[in-house]
Amino acid sequence: MLTAPSGCGKGTLRRALLAKEPDIVFCPSLTTREPRPGEVHGVDYLFVSREEFLKRRDGGELAEWAEVYGNLYGTPRSDIEAALSQGRDVILEKDVQGARTLRKVYPEGVFIFILPPSFEELRRRMEARGTETEKEREIRLESARQEIADLGTFDYVIINSDVERAKNRLLAIVAGERMRAENPSSPPVVQRRFANDEPAARRSHEKGGFQVQPGNSGREEGKTDSLPEGDQRPCGP
Ligand code: 5GP
Repeated sequence: MLTAPSGCGKGTLRRALLAKEPDIVFCPSLTTREPRPGEVHGVDYLFVSREEFLKRRDGGELAEWAEVYGNLYGTPRSDIEAALSQGRDVILEKDVQGARTLRKVYPEGVFIFILPPSFEELRRRMEARGTETEKEREIRLESARQEIADLGTFDYVIINSDVERAKNRLLAIVAGERMRAENPSSPPVVQRRFANDEPAARRSHEKGGFQVQPGNSGREEGKTDSLPEGDQRPCGP
């Protein structure tokens, strides 16, 4: 989950992540807002009429929805569920309110907050983008102040002062999360690689030891010959 006040560059970071990790699925939000120049239906958002939005919301298709700056935004459930059921990681972009609701729906999610280097810089970026009136800009800046107060409820914070560094930090978070032992996507990988050892290891464990025995698995203790080249790194510093 990427959350950031408007103008903090979460779209840029999301695109950078998807370029490096094409297996991750971005599930765009449904919105009644008009597309900005360069925004593409189905890529950045699913742009729909208010009537269509309300029909889908009332049909129970949305995991959460909110009215933000006079426009409706919502999270279609089906795309997320389809990607997750295929074992793929999903990236979402929401405001603080949306992230808070989705934390309850997807407690296994990783919630990342992106900060601007300063309010002055955020104001400057919004002015440079030029897609809001001055009044709209002021509303967005005020709501950014309020959103930042919720920072402590997120798992990670990235300060986007240098976009390259911010991209690298986002990639590092994804890599780190994928290595967590309790990560739901880890067990299949581990099982695939070590499935053949499991009965031998258990037999040994039942006898009081916990060694991988030569025999059924065709492996000797300490050897990692069934692992691909890249995984045969020595342990330790
Ligand atoms: P923008 O119009 O600048 O693209 O987005 C305005 C705000 O709406 C941003 O803070 C963005 O994160 C938020 N937003 C986008 N999609 C959703 C959504 O599906 N649900 C919620 N609650 N907020 C969203």
